[in-house]
Amino acid sequence: MPIAGSGIVKMLPGRKPCKDCGFPTCFAFAMKLASGGATVDKCPYLSEEVKDKLLDALAPPIKLVTVGSGENAVKIGNEEVIYRHEKTFVHSPGIALLISDKDDNAGVEEKIKKIKELQFPWVGVNLKADLLALHFQSGDKAKFLALVKKVYDSTDLGLVLVSEDMNALFAARDICADRHPLLYPITSENIEEAIPKIKATPTPVGVRASSVEGLVPLTTRLKDAGIEEVVLDPGSKNLLEAVRDQTFIRKAALKQGFRPLGYPTIAFPCFMAKDKLREMLVGSALVIKWASIIVLSDFDRYSLLPLLVQRLNIYTDPRFPMAVEEKYYEVGEPDESSPVLITSNWALTYFLVSSAVEATKVPAYICVKDAEGLGVLTAWAAGKFSGDSVGAFIKKCGIEGKVKHRKLVIPGKVARIKGELEDALELKWEVIIGPRETTGIGAFLPALSKQLKG
Ligand code: SF4
Repeated sequence: MPIAGSGIVKMLPGRKPCKDCGFPTCFAFAMKLASGGATVDKCPYLSEEVKDKLLDALAPPIKLVTVGSGENAVKIGNEEVIYRHEKTFVHSPGIALLISDKDDNAGVEEKIKKIKELQFPWVGVNLKADLLALHFQSGDKAKFLALVKKVYDSTDLGLVLVSEDMNALFAARDICADRHPLLYPITSENIEEAIPKIKATPTPVGVRASSVEGLVPLTTRLKDAGIEEVVLDPGSKNLLEAVRDQTFIRKAALKQGFRPLGYPTIAFPCFMAKDKLREMLVGSALVIKWASIIVLSDFDRYSLLPLLVQRLNIYTDPRFPMAVEEKYYEVGEPDESSPVLITSNWALTYFLVSSAVEATKVPAYICVKDAEGLGVLTAWAAGKFSGDSVGAFIKKCGIEGKVKHRKLVIPGKVARIKGELEDALELKWEVIIGPRETTGIGAFLPALSKQLKG
């Protein structure tokens, strides 16, 4: 865990409250530093040595590393808890698809197409794999570099470059350095040769050893050389070893504050499992057991989607329900006589309602009222879906300019807000009580649409 305020204050100069940091005392400054509300440089009286010690002590226990660039950048690390229920997991693992330079052209094309096309809109987010891992296996450096160039030119995705040959690895890095690729593997055999090349064009590096213990001298050496964008591979050969190693690393970093293991990790189910099904099961276990990048040899829609949904479930913040933005949404191409429905902004509620409306093929407007991510009935009970608040939202959301009629459908479960809502809308709208369940929308909406058009 990061250092507490009481520990920080012992490292501060303790001058008579000079307040030059903007805080009334050193203690107040220390408390702010501990909570992340101030930065070390605000106190001008710290020696360089103390400053370095403080920066080190205040750094997150697991380093944040970014692979890729722009909107496809994958951030990993920065985790604070071992178990999700303690607070939340922060950065979901990047799912990488492996392409070997031994694959023929058609195979490479197919995998590029696959990672681009296999995307799944899911309760307001777009689920997809994130990275391509390019593997030098052919022994022909030119072939590997041609693969890297092809993938670099045809996608915007972040890349993991996998090569035991250092010359090929850094030549590949030079092709796609602006994409901030992860270079793998840095080992005890090549680390000294690699350090100057990494420092020349800094990108993240994946460190591999044959055990968790073997990683420690490598990360220590890299840190001494000023290289901290590091990802760990303890060399796990099967699921049992992988879970054991990931657990050890996570607990050492978070419980013991052991900095040499305070980095995100990479795991290779593609090299651990005998067949595709087992590979996915290993990947699935590692989503739960803390791997930060998971490299798979292949997937299709039937194997990828469950993995992505599992990742979404594990990495959503359990303290906050999933919610969609408060506004009116268009289903189909509604016009001025299309029905207007209202619901709350719990993501599941919205997607059930919008799917049911879509299935009727009746173009409509769905107004989504912010209810802090609660379902309709719970929101009403909590006072977040009252007639007054829904009325205020209808007036300001812009729907009045979209339709010429004034008929608003409310969920049947909150029929009791009808009178209050009509009052809030100054009796300009007729409030219609809709079905209690979304299953009723199929019969209800076409009839209403006919009535509005007639
Ligand atoms: S500037 Fe430094 S010495 Fe002065 S009060 Fe702030 S922390 Fe203490």
